[in-house]
Amino acid sequence: MKFNKSVKSIKIALVALVLTAMVGVTTTFAATYYHDYGFAKGKVYINYWKDSSVASFGYTSYSNTGINNWKNITGNLNITEVKSSPTYFGIVTYVGNSIPGFDVYGVVDHFKYGLTGFKQVNPDDQRDRSRVRMDHTNLKSMKNNAEKQYAFTHEFGHAVGLKHNNSGVASVMSETIISTRNTPQTADKNNIKLKYKN
Ligand SMILES: [Zn+2]
Repeated sequence: MKFNKSVKSIKIALVALVLTAMVGVTTTFAATYYHDYGFAKGKVYINYWKDSSVASFGYTSYSNTGINNWKNITGNLNITEVKSSPTYFGIVTYVGNSIPGFDVYGVVDHFKYGLTGFKQVNPDDQRDRSRVRMDHTNLKSMKNNAEKQYAFTHEFGHAVGLKHNNSGVASVMSETIISTRNTPQTADKNNIKLKYKN
C-alpha cells in the first residue's frame, strides 16, 4: 500500500515535469508582437496631434494616412485628431532634417506625465504620450512614396503598442521594408485586436 502510493506520486511528479517542460516550450515560441500596457490594455481613446513641422516638410498626407491606417480595426482603439498638443492619451508627431542621436527613418519614444512634466518610460509601461519623430533626410533617400508611407504606418504601429514582427509573416511591423505592405496586414490587425481585447 505504501509502496503503491509512492509509485503513484512519482508518476504524478513525472506528469507535472512534462507539463512544465511543455509550458516552457510554448512560452519560448509563442512570441507576442505587442507591448503589454502602453496607453491601455482595453478600450482607449487616443488623441493624435501633428506639429507644424509635419506640414512644413510636406508629410501631412503620409502622417494622416499612417495613423488612420490603425483606426477601425477594433472598436476598442479609437483615434481622433486634436488641434493642440495633448497631455494624456496623446500621439504627437514631428518631422525634422535629422533626429539627434539616431540615423533612422523614424523613431518613437514614450512618456508618462507627472509633477515634473513628461518622463520617458519603457514601451511596456503605462504611458500618456507616444512621440513619433521622422527624419526627412533619410525619408527622401527612400526608393518611392510607398516606402515613405511604410515608414509612417510602421512608426504609428509602435505608437499604438506594436513591437517589430520579423517572424516572416506579412507585416508592416517588419524591419524589412516591403512597400506593398505599407498598411496594417492581417497579422498586424490580429495583434491590435489581441492587445486591445477585442
Ligand atoms: Zn520599428
